[in-house]
Amino acid sequence: MLLCGLTIMSILPFGIYRLLQGNWATAAVDFALIIAMSAVIVHVWRTGSYQMAGLAVTIFYSAGMLAVVYLRGVSLVYWVYPTMIAAYFVVRPGHALAINSVGLVLLISMLFGKMTMVNLSTIIVTVGLVNLFAYVFAYRTGLQTQRLHTAVELDFLTGVGNRRALDRKLLEHAQERRPQLEASLLLLDLDHFKQVNDQHGHAAGDKVLKKLAELMRAHTRSSDRIFRYGGEEFAVIASGAGLSAAAHLAEGLRAAVASATLLEGHPITISIGVAYMDKQRPPADWLAGADKMLYAAKQGGRNAVRVAEPS
Ligand code: GH3
Ligand code: MG
Ligand code: MG
Repeated sequence: MLLCGLTIMSILPFGIYRLLQGNWATAAVDFALIIAMSAVIVHVWRTGSYQMAGLAVTIFYSAGMLAVVYLRGVSLVYWVYPTMIAAYFVVRPGHALAINSVGLVLLISMLFGKMTMVNLSTIIVTVGLVNLFAYVFAYRTGLQTQRLHTAVELDFLTGVGNRRALDRKLLEHAQERRPQLEASLLLLDLDHFKQVNDQHGHAAGDKVLKKLAELMRAHTRSSDRIFRYGGEEFAVIASGAGLSAAAHLAEGLRAAVASATLLEGHPITISIGVAYMDKQRPPADWLAGADKMLYAAKQGGRNAVRVAEPS
C-alpha cells in the first residue's frame, strides 16, 4: 500500500504535466497506473490480502514502464532501474526475476535498431547486473529471515519449541475457527530436579533435560507440539486430543519417564497437569488450568497425572 501510495504521488505530477502539454498517450499511461494503484490500495484495505496485489502491482508497474519507454523513447529508460528493483520488495525473488526478464526482452525488442549497439549493450548489461544484485540480496535476506524465525522460537538446549513458540501456538489455536480441531494442553515438571543439580552437577541436569525432550518426542505423535517453557518445565499441545486422549498420553509419558534411565543411579520422575483447550476461554485460562492440575499432582506426592474437570 505504501508503494502504491508513493507511486500515485510521484506519477500524478507527471500525468498532470503531460495533460497540460497535450501529450495524451503518455498521460493516459500515467493515469491508468494511478487508477490501478488506487484499486490495489482499496483491495488490500478491504481484504487484508496482499499476495495477488503484490503480483498485480509489479505487473502494472512493469507494463507502465515499458509503455512509457515505448511512447517516449530511450530518454525514459532510467525508469527501468527503480521499477525493476521495486519488484524485489513486493514479490518473491523468483517471481521478480521472471517478470523483469520478460520486461528486459520486451525492452530490447523495443529499443533494437533505435540506438547504437554499444548503448543497447550497456543497457542490457546494467539492467542484468541490477537484477542479479537485487535477486541475490532479496534471496539471502529471505533465507536469513526464515532462519531467524525458526531460531527465535527454539530452545537451544533441547531443540524443542520455547516459551515464545508455545504462546504463538496457543494463540493460533484460540483463533482457529474450525470447531472439530480440538486440542489439550499438558504441563510437565520434573520432580525434585534441584536435587539432580545439587547431587550430580548442572551439566548432568542439562543432560537429563535433553534426554527427557528426546523421550517426549518418541512418545508423542508428530502432530503434537513440545515446548520447554521454563527451566525444568515442559508443555505439550496434543492436537486432536480431547481430555481423555490427553490424559492417556500424559499417563504414557509419566510411565515412560519413570521406567527410563535418564540419569544413572538417580530415578527421575515427572508430574503432569492436563487441561482442555476450550476455545470459549482465553489461552491464559488453559495455562492456569493445567498449572493448577500440575500443582495438585505435586501435592499428591509427585510422579502423577492430574486432569482438569471439563468446564
Ligand atoms: P518440584 O518437584 O517441586 O518441582 O521440585 P524441583 O526441585 O524440581 O523444583 P524447584 O523449582 O525447586 O527447582 C527447579 C530446579 O530446576 C532449580 C534449577 O536448578 C533447575 N533448573 C532450571 N533450569 C535448569 C537448566 O536449564 N539446567 C539445569 N541443569 N537445571 C535447571
Ligand atoms: Mg518447576
Ligand atoms: Mg520441578
